[in-house]
Amino acid sequence: MANDAVFDILVIGSGAAGLTLALRAADHARIGVISKGSIDAGSTAWAQGGIAAVMSKTDSYDAHVEDTLNSGAGLCRIEAVRHTVENGPKAIGWLIDQGVAFDVTEDGPYHLTQEGGHSQRRVVHAADATGKAVQTSLDEKVRAHPNITLFEHHMAVDLVQEAEGSPVRGAYIYDIETTRVLAFSAKFVALATGGASRVYLYTSNPDGATGDGIAMAWRAGCRVANMEFNQFHPTCLYHREARTYLISEAVRGEGGELILEDGERFLDAFDDRAELAPRDIVARAIDFEMKRLGADCVYLDISHQDADFIQEHFPNIYETCRENGIDITQQPIPVVPAAHYTCGGVITDLKGRTDVDGLYVIGESASTGLHGANRMASNSLLECFVFADSAATDILAKLDDQADPIIIPDWDESRVSDSDEEVVVSHNWDELRRTMWSYVGIVRTDKRLARAKRRIDLLAEEIQDYYGNFRITPDLLELRNLVTVSDLIVRSALARKESRGLHYTLDYPELADESVDTILQPE
Ligand SMILES: Cc1cc2nc3c(=O)[nH]c(=O)nc-3n(C[C@H](O)[C@H](O)[C@H](O)COP(=O)(O)OP(=O)(O)OC[C@H]3O[C@@H](n4cnc5c(N)ncnc54)[C@H](O)[C@@H]3O)c2cc1C
Repeated sequence: MANDAVFDILVIGSGAAGLTLALRAADHARIGVISKGSIDAGSTAWAQGGIAAVMSKTDSYDAHVEDTLNSGAGLCRIEAVRHTVENGPKAIGWLIDQGVAFDVTEDGPYHLTQEGGHSQRRVVHAADATGKAVQTSLDEKVRAHPNITLFEHHMAVDLVQEAEGSPVRGAYIYDIETTRVLAFSAKFVALATGGASRVYLYTSNPDGATGDGIAMAWRAGCRVANMEFNQFHPTCLYHREARTYLISEAVRGEGGELILEDGERFLDAFDDRAELAPRDIVARAIDFEMKRLGADCVYLDISHQDADFIQEHFPNIYETCRENGIDITQQPIPVVPAAHYTCGGVITDLKGRTDVDGLYVIGESASTGLHGANRMASNSLLECFVFADSAATDILAKLDDQADPIIIPDWDESRVSDSDEEVVVSHNWDELRRTMWSYVGIVRTDKRLARAKRRIDLLAEEIQDYYGNFRITPDLLELRNLVTVSDLIVRSALARKESRGLHYTLDYPELADESVDTILQPE
């Protein structure tokens, strides 16, 4: 029995949240950063639009707060919103110090764009690849820091506690190359594992967004909040061989029309603004038509515009579609809505602290109260930077008084064998994500949710049985977490007897008088 590694702080996840915490604390603590893929495999590197912060004289904290509260449909926590907004400029300043090259203008320092829900231009960006610019700069700093040890292709399996409900003292980490499970001991553990949008069949998120941190924290005794609020992007490329790729809403803004397979337009039947209706209305209309017709996708057609105009305005979309055999100057683009952002998560306070001592959760895995029932565009990256900084400050203040790391018992593999039927895992992955897509997606009913619950209960039982008997693999670990998160989403959705923000149910189409969080507590 010996620890494989010992740290002051073990950070699980290497996106915006995890790397910020690591760098903010690294001058004063020994830090281990774990990533189940390569360092840049999370959603951060995919972010296109930018980061919201009050950066111009015409803008104000009050305006940013008010816009965020409006998007959140009555469920934002005002202290969390203020904390995020008021620390926004400082977070951007820190990123600039790390070398992130945001777009600048001739007359003002930074170029700001305006996005849905924002009443002002306040989104700083690096062209249309902001996430990549942030991730690349932070990667370099992390790799260069002598106090940070990076473990890529290492996957956290579970948190370690000496007894149920007691402080978190480390984590079991699966080394994907050697297939050994390692014991990492630490004074503090921070989960920064991103969202859970891969519970759905179609998603804009990269492969690893399987809600691992949410499931691990739940198993360790943390409450979760508002898991029913999942944001769907209305138009992602639908192509059997391509990973899901966002088709920007600007295509509709420039005259793109949504049509069915027979060429008929349909959005004007749902909203007078047709193609220019807000994101959630467009997503709902597409979902309705796909379900009504049993169609695999609908189509977004901009081919009536001049070919030069299309190529000039949408060079990346043009190129990506062309690589997949679609010439958007000549033919419509097959699209589906796709799960994009997990608004709910593990409940934390303003310092990222959870219900369990020693455990912090930051970034998309957390429910800080910032997003409420609907995330406002470009607030999510800001939340990562602000809460990672707050968590680092809190941890450093307590570091000397925290109990020393413990010796963690070795991972016990004595009662498991190699799987004889890998197909069980792949089948259940597929079934789970289809079930979530069909019954727990954009438009819900109690009947659909109950149908999903029955299937998820059965899958959970089967997966738990499999987990108990066979040696673990990354796919099995992700599936186990996905089924936990799916269960949390369905239970939260069943508990909400109204339509609010991103949760829309045909059984309760109205907004309730009182706005109440959905909070689930582990038994
Ligand atoms: C296509 C796209 C566009 C977006 N555009 C914007 C935008 O313009 N502005 C904005 O504010 N937000 C945007 N978002 C949302 C934003 O990118 C994410 O919310 C944010 O990047 C989440 O950061 P994070 O650090 O919490 O998680 P991530 O960046 O997702 O990182 C999660 C990390 O955890 C690791 N991990 C997960 N599970 C484990 C495990 N079990 N063991 C070890 N490691 C693990 C992953 O490998 C990864 O390193 C976009 C998202 C997508 C998908």
